[in-house]
Amino acid sequence: MEPVILKRPEHHVSRRDISSAAIKVLYRLKDEGYTAYIAGGAVRDLLLDRHPKDFDVATNATPEQIRKMFRNCRLIGRRFRLAHILFRGEIIETATFRAPVPEDETIHSDKIFSTGEEGMVMRDNVFGTPEEDALRRDFTVNALFYNIADFSIIDYADGLEDLEKKIIRVIGDPDTRFTEDPVRMIRAARFAGTLGFEIEEKAYDSICRNKDKLALAAPSRMYEEVQKLFFCGHAKEVFLWLEKSGLLHPMFHDFSHWIDEDKARHDWVIQTLEQMDRWRKADLRVHPSLLFALVFGEYHEFLAQQLIDSGTAPHDAAREAVHKHLQGICDHVRVPKQVIYQVSDIMSNQLRFGRPKGNKSTRFLHHKAFPDAFLYFKISSKAHKRNKESLAYWTDLRQQNSSS
Ligand code: ATP
Ligand code: MG
Repeated sequence: MEPVILKRPEHHVSRRDISSAAIKVLYRLKDEGYTAYIAGGAVRDLLLDRHPKDFDVATNATPEQIRKMFRNCRLIGRRFRLAHILFRGEIIETATFRAPVPEDETIHSDKIFSTGEEGMVMRDNVFGTPEEDALRRDFTVNALFYNIADFSIIDYADGLEDLEKKIIRVIGDPDTRFTEDPVRMIRAARFAGTLGFEIEEKAYDSICRNKDKLALAAPSRMYEEVQKLFFCGHAKEVFLWLEKSGLLHPMFHDFSHWIDEDKARHDWVIQTLEQMDRWRKADLRVHPSLLFALVFGEYHEFLAQQLIDSGTAPHDAAREAVHKHLQGICDHVRVPKQVIYQVSDIMSNQLRFGRPKGNKSTRFLHHKAFPDAFLYFKISSKAHKRNKESLAYWTDLRQQNSSS
């Protein structure tokens, strides 16, 4: 198929908008006689006047050829090898154009991206043409190329039209593509929420039909995606998409049932996500434990109260509630143990805010667990208009200590 090509005067993407590291990689490849494109999300973001998170390069040079060209290069991946070209503060992921995944390998786990053992002979059909590479990508707006040779935009999948229409459209048949890799359904919600786009009707219907296939996705990839969802700066919008399309149920089964029972619970989650988004916009780093503590906080408090009612001591109840819930999730979203421990620290430390006592308070204030526990305390107290006095006490104490 002939691609649609936007020549340099027909678009506003300039080399100035691309990181100097990516430009170096592109020119080196081009000067050695290879095709060199910026591919995927970065082209989409540049066309939308957004700052790309990173710049991925696609080329017809093989990984070995790339490695020989760059001293600062590391090959990663097994069956499909990728080059990571390292610059100060930046890694440019450089991949050889890929052929579609053969049908017998369309499986529902992370194997889709890395089958085979180390040293396995690479199959001839792993590498493909630029067109094949574009068409195996997930959504039309993610399949655009920027060609360093003439600064044009190359579009094999009608992505330009969908960018204009603000639509997330699956490349190919949605049922097939979501079955191949169920994580793509969550990605659709993420891109729609982040970009303010609609999910195209056929894709949306397909998500509603196939949402339970998420259970087949590899738990480690699910955890990565969940983090991306909540850290993308538009967590609220993404969450609303996940809810609307029914994806939230297979992701967080018990939690989503619990939210459905009471609108106030839903409001808490939305408020928390809005807070997350404000932090992201202010470029504040929020680590996963605080994120998980906040999003599930209200639910964990509810579970802890049930344990307290049946005789468990409050401190133990706070920890047990977190462990039970987050470990249960791990079957399909692998939350690291360390994150689970830190979330239970945040929750059990809430008890220390309730009974401020001179020296003990100051000791807690200097404890490394204090900042996250206090952020949780502040946000939950304000959201529920509770703990006014203790919040004032701890805020004063903190200010006194930071100014002394
Ligand atoms: P972000 O700005 O969040 O990084 P992105 O579009 O760059 O968005 P990545 O996850 O970094 O997304 O992936 C880079 C590109 O690789 C995508 O734009 C898409 O073309 C392709 N891609 C990623 N994941 C998949 C997938 N599961 N199936 C098909 N193509 C994918
Ligand atoms: Mg990216």
